[in-house]
Amino acid sequence: MGDQVELRCRCGEVRALVSGASPRTVNRVVCYCDDCQAFAHRIGRADLLNSQGGSDIVQLAPASLTFLQGQHRIVGLRLAPKGLFRWYASCCNTPVGNTLTPAIPFVGIVAQAFDHATHRADDVFGPPTGAILGKYAIGEPPAGSTGLNLPLLLRAIGKVLGWRLRGKAWPHPFFRKGKGEPAYPVTVLSREEREALRPLCGPNPAAGAAR
Ligand SMILES: [Zn+2]
Ligand SMILES: [Zn+2]
Repeated sequence: MGDQVELRCRCGEVRALVSGASPRTVNRVVCYCDDCQAFAHRIGRADLLNSQGGSDIVQLAPASLTFLQGQHRIVGLRLAPKGLFRWYASCCNTPVGNTLTPAIPFVGIVAQAFDHATHRADDVFGPPTGAILGKYAIGEPPAGSTGLNLPLLLRAIGKVLGWRLRGKAWPHPFFRKGKGEPAYPVTVLSREEREALRPLCGPNPAAGAAR
């Protein structure tokens, strides 16, 4: 049924455990969208993007992720008032989970947060199963990343529905049960702040200093 694997921010202050970790219990996808790129730039972690601006994301069930320490460092960022909640550890600006509201239960975590001295994300979750939103990729879009990837989409929907039906939405690592309010402080970018990030992002970054 999979193993326990540790999630750790870069400096080690924020730690969490993922239970039941295996290639079958998660969705691992490289996302090239400009929102993921903008978020990485905003928190000064463009180092987490691949050479074409992609974010390697492991999507898993909310209830499978439990924070062990450093919770007081967790904060959330939304690029727009209705955008994804992008949670990160403010000690070293390591992303620790992208979510929607708990009604659509999933947590997307950058794969690098699972790379440790003893094992790497690949060992636990297997390699990414695909790439999406390649139209925002910097340079030639990776093969299969631009069109609608139906198998990948169906797999993602199936996973989220399954987690919901099997009660894996709660406890949610980032929301309080009840009214479903965020458990940590959330900042929403102004339109100006969001727009200011666009020149850094694909498909055609205008700012030469992007990396
Ligand atoms: Zn940290
Ligand atoms: Zn994205």
